Amino acid sequence: MPSNPPSQTPRPASDPLVLGRRIRHARTAAGLTLRALAEAVGSTTSQLSLVENGRREPRLSLLTAIAETVGTTPAELLSSQAPPDRRAQLEIALERAQRSPLFAALGVPTVRPGRRLPMDALESLVALHGELDRRARAAIATPEEARRINTELRLEMQSRNNYVPEIEELAEDFVRSVGYTGGALTHHMVAQMAERLGFTIIHVDDLPHSTRTVTDLENGRIYLPPASIPGGYGLRSLALQSMAHRIFGHENPASYGDFLRQRQELAYFTACCLVPRFAALAFLETKKTAKDLAMEDFRDAFGITHHSAAQRFTNLATAHLGIPVHFIRANSDGALYRGYENDGVPLPADASGAIEGQPLCRRWAARAAFARRNRTTEFSQYTDTPAGTYWCSTQTGTSTDAEFSITLGVPFAHAKWFRGRETTRRAQSTCPDKSCCRRPDPELAARWREKSWPSAKMHAHVLSPLPSGTFPGVDDTEVYEFLQAHAPEA
Ligand SMILES: [Zn+2]
Repeated sequence: MPSNPPSQTPRPASDPLVLGRRIRHARTAAGLTLRALAEAVGSTTSQLSLVENGRREPRLSLLTAIAETVGTTPAELLSSQAPPDRRAQLEIALERAQRSPLFAALGVPTVRPGRRLPMDALESLVALHGELDRRARAAIATPEEARRINTELRLEMQSRNNYVPEIEELAEDFVRSVGYTGGALTHHMVAQMAERLGFTIIHVDDLPHSTRTVTDLENGRIYLPPASIPGGYGLRSLALQSMAHRIFGHENPASYGDFLRQRQELAYFTACCLVPRFAALAFLETKKTAKDLAMEDFRDAFGITHHSAAQRFTNLATAHLGIPVHFIRANSDGALYRGYENDGVPLPADASGAIEGQPLCRRWAARAAFARRNRTTEFSQYTDTPAGTYWCSTQTGTSTDAEFSITLGVPFAHAKWFRGRETTRRAQSTCPDKSCCRRPDPELAARWREKSWPSAKMHAHVLSPLPSGTFPGVDDTEVYEFLQAHAPEA
């Protein structure tokens, strides 16, 4: 922003409401009525009233005339941004609150903050408006709060090894009640589960665009999108989440933290129904004994996505198989999207401990897997980190808008239980030390820094932008390597 040149003439106050109240204060202190002042300065009462109520900014000539009449100077009236006294301060606050979109949306009549409004009523109204504003803000949560609450929840789950036995049991009983004994939970069973809760599942093609499902509590109906995807994981999951909402008796969340906690509970319960503990353990224990654990098999045995399989594995791995684990979902731009660990792997984190949106080490499997062309099987590698060596297995995939990778990793000592342990790929990572992979090659940087201009993508992560290198929001190492690779031969 250009700075304003120094000026001898006072500039209009940035806040007309405060200026108006200062004028009124000065006028009443001088013992003048609005009419008397209007006559003295050659204006009208309606004009001055607009000025005093902050609805119109006075021209400098009028301001000068007012100042002279009430025995002060324009500079004095404009000098301070502070309201002249408590009453004026409250009147300004009430005026401002009543002009806000939040208040307008309520359709409640306004109160004129005039002299006849008692001081205690004024205090009370302003306090109520303050509380209304605070509640509205609490409900939308700033990105900083969202990150903080996310981190809290993740650390809480880490301390429980990502395992909630009460919910596991609840889900086991529920699926058993409709005759489930193992393998993929069928759509038919899901429909029976719904019936037990008094619901009928109805597929419709005109769900409101902002919803995933709608439940009619009065008529006992769960409306889902059309059942056109054969074996679609999504539909079973959506139906189960609607039911879980009923089972847990969730109230409308009072805060963003409550909202996230409820979502987490629903997701956990849904995962427990789609991959019930007893069936999962029977499968995983056999595989472990055969030293043939693989997320792709776990996924296929239960008819779920790779993401769900790896995430579900983290629920049971430590508590039941004695294996500490980490899980990473990464985007192709290198940012961590979701993560969990209880094996000490140094996930990238910001100063507050939040991991979402942080750039992952370029040498980790979660990113190295993107470079591979043949993606028919999982990609395995050992990675040496400052916290020890980890074996990781990564599957890449494509969602509607971007490529992503799902990684399940374990400390070196536990690699022996997994298919892919024989991989000869080994990478060294010293992240978060910047010299690991975040400092561009000095020669490439010298060659390109002044001769390039990459334009950053807007990052889809709601939680944070990627930290910047030389160019805001851009991975400069990647940019220089790209330029070098595409530069015409000298
Ligand atoms: Zn690195």
